[in-house]
Amino acid sequence: VSLTSPADLLLGIDIGATKIAAGIAAGDGRIRDRLVVPTPRHDPDRLVEEVAALVERLRRGAAGPAAIGVGACGRVKTASGEVNTSLALGWRHPVALRARLAARTGCPVFLDNDVNAGALGEHRWGAARDLADVVYVSVGTGIGAGILIGGRLYRGAGGAAGEVGHMVVDADGPPCPCGNRGCLEVLASGQAVGATASAAIAGGAASPALEALARDGTAITARDVFAAASGGDAYARGLVQRTGEWLAVAVVNLVNLFDPQRVVLGGGLTHTGDLLVAAVRDALGRRAGWLATDPKVLVPAALGPDTGVAGAAAVALDALRTQA
Ligand SMILES: [Zn+2]
Repeated sequence: VSLTSPADLLLGIDIGATKIAAGIAAGDGRIRDRLVVPTPRHDPDRLVEEVAALVERLRRGAAGPAAIGVGACGRVKTASGEVNTSLALGWRHPVALRARLAARTGCPVFLDNDVNAGALGEHRWGAARDLADVVYVSVGTGIGAGILIGGRLYRGAGGAAGEVGHMVVDADGPPCPCGNRGCLEVLASGQAVGATASAAIAGGAASPALEALARDGTAITARDVFAAASGGDAYARGLVQRTGEWLAVAVVNLVNLFDPQRVVLGGGLTHTGDLLVAAVRDALGRRAGWLATDPKVLVPAALGPDTGVAGAAAVALDALRTQA
């Protein structure tokens, strides 16, 4: 795809639980004309209309775009272009999102899971450029991974490969909604960090700074904890450290399983600075010196907050390349 005329535009649409982000991807993955709207949850019809409106605003009457890449949070069947189910979007039944968006916009649409999209984006333009064997771990509200083997996404038999949020890292750990115990997601996700801090505040075990934040009635989020840790708050630093420990356990497991050239750490918890990556590296140093001595093994995502939109555009490019 050349990107020289409006008809050749490549759009990326990142559908998350709280917002839909969209933009035009340049040939180097840089995003322009970013647009963000709230996600209408529990309502696929309205979501399709919102995305169609975003596409309309981005193409400004041009005949294109050449293709629209979509990354959606949920279980995606790429072959049929369906979102099978999405707890985050409140969809309990399969939605033929690709077909519906293609019909509504008149453009070719390619769909994948948002974390797979992030992995493709980092592979094409980011921290894993031109590497064949890569694990991209996204740590945000939840935790997921995109796995590239030989330069291609590994999806597994049912399309659910990379669900590292449900990798058990503590066999006797707290229960997870999936039915298991001690899953990575209940210990180290943004939601887990916020919940742990809130429980500590309720029990009087957190720091005065976080208690003061909670006093006005707002729920403490992982963002608050990371901001407090950046400011030197001892309790918050300890919690970031523990989060890094759990993630390091998962990273060692992933490295032993896949022997990747690189593990890329991205997602919302890495957008506020390098605290989390530093905490994981620290823990790796204690747990797996053989691994920690290679600084290339664990790197932060290079696309940062644009990973979602750029990754969605990469989904379209990857699909076009596969078709060609
Ligand atoms: Zn689980």
